[in-house]
Amino acid sequence: MRFANVEGRLQRVGPDGSLTDVARASGTLPADPLGCLERWDEVLAWAADAEGGHDGHLDAVSPGPPVPNPRQVFGIALNYQMHVGESSFTAPEHPSVFTKFPSCLAGPTSDIPVGTDAVDWEVELVLVIGRTARLVEVADAWDHVAGLTVGQDISERDVQRRGPAPQFSLGKSFPCFGPTGPVLVTPDDVPDRDDLALGCTVNGEQVQDARTSELLFDVPELVSRLSHIVTLFPGDLIFTGTPAGVGAARTPPWFLAPGDVLESTIEGIGTMRNRCVAP
Ligand code: ZN
Repeated sequence: MRFANVEGRLQRVGPDGSLTDVARASGTLPADPLGCLERWDEVLAWAADAEGGHDGHLDAVSPGPPVPNPRQVFGIALNYQMHVGESSFTAPEHPSVFTKFPSCLAGPTSDIPVGTDAVDWEVELVLVIGRTARLVEVADAWDHVAGLTVGQDISERDVQRRGPAPQFSLGKSFPCFGPTGPVLVTPDDVPDRDDLALGCTVNGEQVQDARTSELLFDVPELVSRLSHIVTLFPGDLIFTGTPAGVGAARTPPWFLAPGDVLESTIEGIGTMRNRCVAP
């Protein structure tokens, strides 16, 4: 099943792209996506056989981020071997984790303000947690994932690396540095939840192209390991890491500039199209 956030209200997206407003059509479920994620089993039960499709079409609206206000947003660094190599690191023994502050979240067509000459792209599979997760075993981890979406972990490389201890969380949290969307897709509705093609283009040129089966710490490992340290809540996002092809690793480095168009795609989920603008 597929869902979209349209003006702060969760919509079920039908196979033909038709929208059904979850709160209005159900009569009992909340309107906001986070409220729905806290009652995800009820949402899925309703959506399985709800009539509807009378609230417009996905092509005619501008969806917002599937979860605009999560409690927590996790980012995973160095989670594809080819990206570890291009970044001149060695593969981590444990997931390398930072946060993107939720104020950086944006939608799948939001403009990205680019105010310096060190702003980089990172296409990523993003997990949306659907069930409170604490001390979850690997075998049970997928049961705690409500869905998948496309994300860009936009990164200001100078701020990210600044200081004696790097500032990943700040360098990745400028306004609109976390576009996500266009839809939230349940893991059973993608071709293979453990092996999806992902990539992005800048002005039409392919710059990243990989598969999520190449993740060093895969989805179950990430959910399980994080849940052994923190509590994960419904609506929390996990940016699972980016594959090779970022601008900072190129010779010469290639960074985003106002006017650039960044398109990010994951197989079975969809494409985000974000334009870079002057702040
Ligand atoms: Zn990243």
